[in-house]
Formats: sequence, structure tokens, C-alpha cells
Amino acid sequence: MSKTKQQKDLPGGIITDIGSTARNKTGSWRTFKPVVNLEKCAGCGICEKFCPEGCITIQKVEGYDKPKCAINYDYCKGCLICMEECPFKAINSVVEEK
Ligand code: SF4
Ligand code: SF4
Repeated sequence: MSKTKQQKDLPGGIITDIGSTARNKTGSWRTFKPVVNLEKCAGCGICEKFCPEGCITIQKVEGYDKPKCAINYDYCKGCLICMEECPFKAINSVVEEK
């Protein structure tokens, strides 16, 4: 099968701008926003392991002795996998305000 002009001009599978992911802040894609209830969060790190965007860290939070879940909303796409997987029901969702 012959290629269209567009296919010839724009071949697929080529990364032209290596290392650009960090610049592409995907948080604006969200419809729902996960919100952590720090009182319930046990800092177990399960959400961090499941987040497909790698935008959760478990870190020290002022006012708490144990580390807690922190979401980087610049990259969170709102898939809510973290909410589904949290065994302590410490993550809720709200509609994202645009
Ligand atoms: S899975 Fe739940 S309890 Fe565990 S760190 Fe994440 S939000 Fe906190
Ligand atoms: S909603 Fe999805 S992308 Fe956002 S922190 Fe949770 S698992 Fe990660």
C-alpha cells in the first residue's frame, strides 16, 4: 500500500523532542480531581505505586508525624485509580473547576 503525502511528511514513531514530557503539564486534562483526606491517609504508598502518571509522592507534611500522600496536580490526569486503590478510603474526588 502506498503512503499518503501526509504519512511521508510526518512518519510515525519518531520522537523529535526528547525529554519534553516534564514540560507537557497534563493536569488541565482533568474532569475529576482527587483530593486527599490527610486525617485518613496512613502514608502506605499504595496510591503512589498505582498512579500511572507517577505524580504521587509520599512525603512529610507539616502538622503530621507520619508522611502523607501528595499529588502533583500539574500532571495528575484525574483517572482516580488512586482513589480506587486506597485501602483507607482517604482519597475522594471532586469535579475539577476550570
Ligand atoms: S493509598 Fe491511601 S492511605 Fe495509602 S498513602 Fe495513598 S492516600 Fe494515603
Ligand atoms: S487521579 Fe490518576 S493520575 Fe491523578 S494522582 Fe490519582 S492515579 Fe495519579
